[in-house]
Amino acid sequence: MAKKRDYYEVLGVDRGASADEIKKAYRKLAIKFHPDKNPDDPTAEDKFKEAAEAYSILSDENKRQRYDQFGHAGVGGASGGGAGGFGGGFTMDDIFSQFGDIFGDSSPFGDIFGRQGGNGRRVRRGSDLRIKLKLNLEEVANGVEKKIKVKRHVTCNTCGGNGAKNGTSLTNCNGCNGTGQVRKVVSTMLGQMVSTATCPTCNGDGKIISERCDSCAGEGRLLQDDLITLNIPGGVAEGMQLSMSGKGNVPARGGVAGDLLIVIEEEEDSLLKRDGNNVIFDMHLSFIDAALGTSVEIPTIDGKARITIESGTQAGKILRLKGKGIKDLNGYGKGDQLVHINVWTPQQLTSDERSTLESLRHSPNFQPKPGKNEKGFFDKMKDFFH
Ligand SMILES: [Zn+2]
Ligand SMILES: [Zn+2]
Repeated sequence: MAKKRDYYEVLGVDRGASADEIKKAYRKLAIKFHPDKNPDDPTAEDKFKEAAEAYSILSDENKRQRYDQFGHAGVGGASGGGAGGFGGGFTMDDIFSQFGDIFGDSSPFGDIFGRQGGNGRRVRRGSDLRIKLKLNLEEVANGVEKKIKVKRHVTCNTCGGNGAKNGTSLTNCNGCNGTGQVRKVVSTMLGQMVSTATCPTCNGDGKIISERCDSCAGEGRLLQDDLITLNIPGGVAEGMQLSMSGKGNVPARGGVAGDLLIVIEEEEDSLLKRDGNNVIFDMHLSFIDAALGTSVEIPTIDGKARITIESGTQAGKILRLKGKGIKDLNGYGKGDQLVHINVWTPQQLTSDERSTLESLRHSPNFQPKPGKNEKGFFDKMKDFFH
């Protein structure tokens, strides 16, 4: 452990600094090195604590005087000693409890770090709700409006959310005189410090209910089945999470509702497979249909469609139905449906069928002759990637 740094040096003020300048300097450092704000910097917490320690001494007139006279020894902090140089009795929570004094009601920590600062009555936020939503391919492709029932805490209409009996108002809490905070003296190795804490009587509300609302038993909210309309855009995918703000739980005794989080689950389609924004259909043709040509009905996202198979269609051919795929989530049009042609080779033949085919076996038209227009497998791959 290195030698303890001079407290004035830590706060970056000179020895004649006023109480106000010390406060301001500490405020700046506390914001800069707050551990929540510096998750990737392991030294931030040490610097944060170092600043808090320096402030706890220099903000106290007696301690500051002793420190000025005797240095670290004068305020009980032997130089270089102890883990982190900071007594075990002084925790992060103690540091946070100082903030009520330092930042007053305009504490930036409530906003920046979600911590309760000097103002004990910050707005409460209810919890988020998470639901899973199963969608079939058509819903995924085109988007869908879904009405779902969600069990959530909603504001009690009888009392408007404050939990007090209809018509009665809240009274100031005696424990804290309506401020929501109580001051207490904490002993640390650095001496006694005044800190503020949430009032245990009113839980920081500053108000007490004299008569409870009958409908919600004073909770200010009710658990209800709420019918919610979800507008799911086309192009969502498995595991994607959408959120609707304000459709989660309302907190007890008033505040802002949390969010409703919707996790998408894709139902697999038995015929059509999704590939990004495209949809793939594997089609099996008899070699007679492939040779003679035909018209067949195939499934698409929007129902059945009839397509023409030209005579002489080869196995492996891919037909593209433009715009028959999935809507792009970002609004860049729609994908296609790709029809993969497979030619089915018969595996069982009657003797008549066999002799018919035998008679064709040596016919010149039945001999494979891949011409210029019939690209082989590797050429097709090239086309795909170039
Ligand atoms: Zn109520
Ligand atoms: Zn209170």
